[in-house]
Amino acid sequence: MITTLHTEWTVGDVCKGFIFDKNEGKGLFGLDGQLIIQPEYQRNYIYGDGKRDVAVVESLLKKYPLGLIYFVKNKDGMYEVLDGQQRITSFARYVNQSWQFAVEIDGKPRYFDSLDKDLQDRITNAPLTIYVCEGEPSEIQAWFETINIAGVPLVKQELRNASYHGSFVTKAREVFSNTGNANMNRWQTYVKGDPKRQYILEAALDWVSNHNIDEYMALHRYDSSITELKNHFDTVIDWIDSVFDYTGSEMCGLDWGDLYRRFHNNAYSKENVSERVATLLEDTQVTDKKGIFEYILGGEENPILLNIRVFDQKTKKAVYLKQTKVAQEKGESNCPLCALGHDANAKRIYKEAEMDADHVTAWSKGGATDIKNCQMLCRTHNHAKGNR
Ligand SMILES: [Zn+2]
Repeated sequence: MITTLHTEWTVGDVCKGFIFDKNEGKGLFGLDGQLIIQPEYQRNYIYGDGKRDVAVVESLLKKYPLGLIYFVKNKDGMYEVLDGQQRITSFARYVNQSWQFAVEIDGKPRYFDSLDKDLQDRITNAPLTIYVCEGEPSEIQAWFETINIAGVPLVKQELRNASYHGSFVTKAREVFSNTGNANMNRWQTYVKGDPKRQYILEAALDWVSNHNIDEYMALHRYDSSITELKNHFDTVIDWIDSVFDYTGSEMCGLDWGDLYRRFHNNAYSKENVSERVATLLEDTQVTDKKGIFEYILGGEENPILLNIRVFDQKTKKAVYLKQTKVAQEKGESNCPLCALGHDANAKRIYKEAEMDADHVTAWSKGGATDIKNCQMLCRTHNHAKGNR
């Protein structure tokens, strides 16, 4: 890879011909048509928050350097922004007043055209430090993966989009990274994270590939259709809707791809499921509410998923002392299950540290986590009893 340093381009040069496309959520073109600001493998523009975009312009007004910018020079002579897209889009929006915003100067909001001439010049004449890289796509991609963009590190899926850029990623992003998509709200009920940072796309890929995203993207890189990806994602979302009435935040971010794979062939009564969800959400002993959905889908066989509240130290100590006193009077083991046996442990008095608290009536059968339902068992018997 060859890298050439350019210091002759100014902010004004780069802004030439810039427009911000609000539909696509990205800035397009600069350097009088020679620069592609958001190549397809780049992340969406995320500085449009009235803070980071403003900060870029304020830095220019204070004559602070904007930091290094990297362009790639393509075989056709066009440049693409490799690193610096967020900063360029921010100052170009301001200067060209395309999706314009104001910065505060002496307590007043100022748009570019309302700035004094000297301040306008200060911005447009600001020099930029730009490295232009030329090389094989693989070299550039490898390098791209190692850099951070303006202090916002790329997340995994953004890196994958860069590595596997091509027709498939382009199509997939149009659907799954597009906040204007009418389905986005519904999807975000179940999938966590900002669509612009590729979290919805990542979930869709994770689900369809059974956790082999890279392999899947490599295999489909040059596909012109994303039908399988889209259909699988829709199928999973529809399935969730068909099983659960509930749409609360506890459902967001679960591994629905995995749950679908394991449970979609089972029949569920939507009415029963609703009732069980409501009951378990209200149960104060259930401390992991996110586990409720898998627990119900799995036929309520694995209470570990719910992280049931455990007995506190005070309760355990009180029960231990009482149980041990009674056992010593009777001359039998303080583990009630050992006491039933006929081996050497039938008379053994365990230390408190050698015993665990157990629900006499299992939680799953309605037993509460309170002192009346607590017994101390030796480790062996407690493990043998398990979570039943
Ligand atoms: Zn025992």
